[in-house]
Amino acid sequence: MVDTAPYHDRDGFVWFDGKLIAWREANIHVLSHALHYASAVFEGERAYSGEIFELTQHSQRLYDGAKVLDFTIPYSVAEIDEACRDTIRANNLTDCYVRPIAWRGSEQMGVSAQATKIHLAVAAWDWGSYFPMEERLKGLRLTMAKYRRPDPATAPAKTKAAGLYMICTIEKHRAERAGYADALMLDWRGHVAECTGANIFFIKEGVLHTPTPDCFLDGITRRTVIRLAGRRGLKVVERTILPEELGSFSECFVVGTAAEVTPVAEIAEHTYKPGKICETLINDYTAAVQPKQRAAE
Ligand code: PMP
Repeated sequence: MVDTAPYHDRDGFVWFDGKLIAWREANIHVLSHALHYASAVFEGERAYSGEIFELTQHSQRLYDGAKVLDFTIPYSVAEIDEACRDTIRANNLTDCYVRPIAWRGSEQMGVSAQATKIHLAVAAWDWGSYFPMEERLKGLRLTMAKYRRPDPATAPAKTKAAGLYMICTIEKHRAERAGYADALMLDWRGHVAECTGANIFFIKEGVLHTPTPDCFLDGITRRTVIRLAGRRGLKVVERTILPEELGSFSECFVVGTAAEVTPVAEIAEHTYKPGKICETLINDYTAAVQPKQRAAE
């Protein structure tokens, strides 16, 4: 059953700096550097039938993202993997969302943060469909975002750094208030980039097209879907996609750990009809994330 209690007030355990502690005690001080200066990186993972899909890729991305933010997580990638597994086990979860986060603590306040302690925590909870199921099946309605994905010369654009989500939350709220599920963001040059928490694919004449991830996250789900499409003999073109082209595609879908593979029905004035390729990839992804299937590969 999905817990509707606020996230700070739940039963269970959080892995916090090397130990599993009571969920409600997993707190930090208000003068934590991360809260003021966004010196944090996080991950979003999903476990299926007790196993976290592509766990090591997520842990590695967390570790590498921290390095980009100029801090070193005091645990190895293998130890981060183990922390994630311990967290789901301690909470008796098998199908769930997993959220590791690494951040700078409260030893120093100001832009400089050399003396701060680096913390790592992992929480896990039951989290069903990222988009409400009825919207998901009908296909999502997306609006165009105003903010753009930043130039990699402006921000660490390819990490899951907390600060990058400031504009995502603003845009997601703007979309929701206008009755849309999410917003499609362009990049700093005006090319189609991604949604506020998922990558995007388009289909035209049986070929998949997806933006080149040169200034946004090259998602693990995105890479999985490219691999699955390849196995079906589907051609995938990674290229610059201009907003003027949005009307030329017949199908569209978004992908991400939380979003999985979700069809899109509408982007601003353009409409799409989820078809056979979309359905095949949803089914292939659903099978690929299951541990049985992976063992058989
Ligand atoms: N872009 C953004 C901005 C995201 O937050 C996510 C979710 N992590 C993705 C893309 C998809 O990445 P992944 O498939 O690795 O979850």
